[in-house]
Amino acid sequence: ETLTVELGERSYPIVIGEGLLQHAPKLLQEAGISSKSQLLIVTDEHVAKNYLEPLREVLATAGYRTTASVIAAGEQSKSLSVYDRIMTEAIQAGLDRKSAVLALGGGVVGDLAGFVAATYMRGIDFVQLPTTLLAHDSSVGGKVAINHPLGKNLIGAFHQPRVVIYDTSALHTLPKREVAAGFAEVVKHGLISDEAFVDWLKENADRLWELDSELLAKAIQRGCAVKAAIVSEDETEQGKRALLNLGHTFGHAFEALSAYSALNHGEAIAIGMCIAAKVAERVGIAEKGVCEQTERVLSLYHLPTKWPAGLTPEAVLEAMKRDKKTVGGKLALVLPRAIGHVELIKDIDEEIILTVMREEVEA
Ligand code: NAD
Ligand code: ZN
Repeated sequence: ETLTVELGERSYPIVIGEGLLQHAPKLLQEAGISSKSQLLIVTDEHVAKNYLEPLREVLATAGYRTTASVIAAGEQSKSLSVYDRIMTEAIQAGLDRKSAVLALGGGVVGDLAGFVAATYMRGIDFVQLPTTLLAHDSSVGGKVAINHPLGKNLIGAFHQPRVVIYDTSALHTLPKREVAAGFAEVVKHGLISDEAFVDWLKENADRLWELDSELLAKAIQRGCAVKAAIVSEDETEQGKRALLNLGHTFGHAFEALSAYSALNHGEAIAIGMCIAAKVAERVGIAEKGVCEQTERVLSLYHLPTKWPAGLTPEAVLEAMKRDKKTVGGKLALVLPRAIGHVELIKDIDEEIILTVMREEVEA
């Protein structure tokens, strides 16, 4: 299956299917990356174990020269020091303006490799080869970034890939905790704009959890389509794109305060979406049952919905204010009105947010 992210001359296809890595050379050529281009494959140690050599072989057979940068797995690698190391490897390998960076992995690899591609010689071609479910989100939309010790994704750029090659067979080696994290973003895309999709995710939760290939491809396709539609309307987040941040202002705070280790991104935003629903109920904009339904669909995918132990509401509020989604220090939050409908509410009273969080700690 193929869908297109419509961005004028920067439009690109997302190709989804089983066994696509075997067809990478053809898909690269169709995206305008010829076998004359040198390729830098960025991947992490877990992904490299299963998928790096087969990919290099199929690319070599088609005449591509490849260099690989293998990073340690985990959010810690989205750092200036790892960025610096990959840049050094790229320069030493002799990459030029016609070269391309291939991100083979999850969102960590995609964000980091994308930032390398965005900044190497002021920007070279970039291709996403997602290997996690969560990456259905991170590989679409062109936001690339690394973290600063003081905050997540604070150093970054917009750099769209030439093509996204989504080989769903890679998901079978993914640890279940990472599968759950990926479903958090899939559910998010439903909660933002598609009630029928949320119902479908509820009805088919068991088979999706077992990675039934047909249903999985459909879930990825639908999730990508929701994101692609919003990104097409608002590439650089002047307006509508902010809606994709449902659960993320809370979630980023949870992640930062747990030093990117106790909770992964998907778990953090799952809890964040539940708290956002509680705030929406408190300020009176949410339809009855929104909290309950949000918690229910997330629970079906084995995601946490309760306040993360050990964090205080006051610390979370401070971290939320440091998140770059604040405007002029005021908190703007994406809140659900109903399942499938969210809204960016600017200037929410901090006291309300604190009250809701304090109730959650006690619950
Ligand atoms: P990740 O890249 O760390 O992958 C999760 C874990 O799974 C890692 O240990 C990885 O080594 C392992 N793994 C990956 N593919 C595997 C496979 N096929 N088999 C076995 N193990 C595999 O994390 P993620 O959840 O994919 O992405 C999270 C990151 O994405 C965060 O940094 C987040 O900020 C970012 N993100 C970015 C955007 C965006 O728009 N750019 C959107 C959402 C999330
Ligand atoms: Zn996210």
